[in-house]
Amino acid sequence: MHIHLLTLFPEVCHPYLDTSIVGRAQKSGNLLVSVHDIRDYAADHHHVTDDTPYGGGGGMIIKPEPVFAAVESIDGRDSDKSEIILLTPQGRLFSQDTAHELVKLDQIILIAGRYEGFDERIREYLVTDEISVGDYVVTGGELPALMIVDAVARLIPGVLGAIDAAEKDSHGESGILEHPHYTRPVNFRGWDVPDVLLSGNHEKIANWRMKESLRRTWQRRPDLLIDTQLSEYEKEFIAELAEESVVKWK
Ligand code: SAM
Repeated sequence: MHIHLLTLFPEVCHPYLDTSIVGRAQKSGNLLVSVHDIRDYAADHHHVTDDTPYGGGGGMIIKPEPVFAAVESIDGRDSDKSEIILLTPQGRLFSQDTAHELVKLDQIILIAGRYEGFDERIREYLVTDEISVGDYVVTGGELPALMIVDAVARLIPGVLGAIDAAEKDSHGESGILEHPHYTRPVNFRGWDVPDVLLSGNHEKIANWRMKESLRRTWQRRPDLLIDTQLSEYEKEFIAELAEESVVKWK
């Protein structure tokens, strides 16, 4: 997987990309991330990348020429296994499903904006997809792009240490939230680790984790349960939780 990140602020991206799991993924050859400074593709002497909006109004707009030139310098951009993605709060919402979709590609080109955003012709004639990381606005597309790089990287086989870690996480294979975790000490300020986790009984531990995972999802994100395949036993447990909620409301 080769990810290209186009930005006006490459210095923001490098420290994150060189650190921890994403850094190791690159060192081990599972992932290649190339950061391109859009400014390097500005043809004029002063490397101008933004200009005032036609029609007036505040803020600066990223010019089309350097962004088109930066993307057009990348080989394989027209392939079926490559996407050119604009980071914008107006895009489709990023989710774990989107990360699973993107990890199937050979190449992803991420374009991070700044200021008031992009000249519309970039959106209309250059990109193949537009992604938002949530219904809020940040000052630049670098953090959204890094979130996407990270979420995709951890799905690449071999990138995470434990083989099944990504599947068991929240929004993993089950589609629901993960159970709570505890570590040493057994008692911290009078708060104990649940006995079952100390029992050494793997079946009981698995059962507790499954129920806590369902309880957490029921309490925090019941919407996730709608699309989840549940066993009869799990359905019964959800029915119990529903019953408990009704009793509490009375
Ligand atoms: N004026 C733009 C609008 O209303 O849609 C927002 C521009 S924002 C201040 C600057 C840049 O940050 C955007 O071009 C985009 O690349 C990035 N950005 C901000 N919020 C984002 C989000 N929720 N998801 C993805 N990118 C975002």
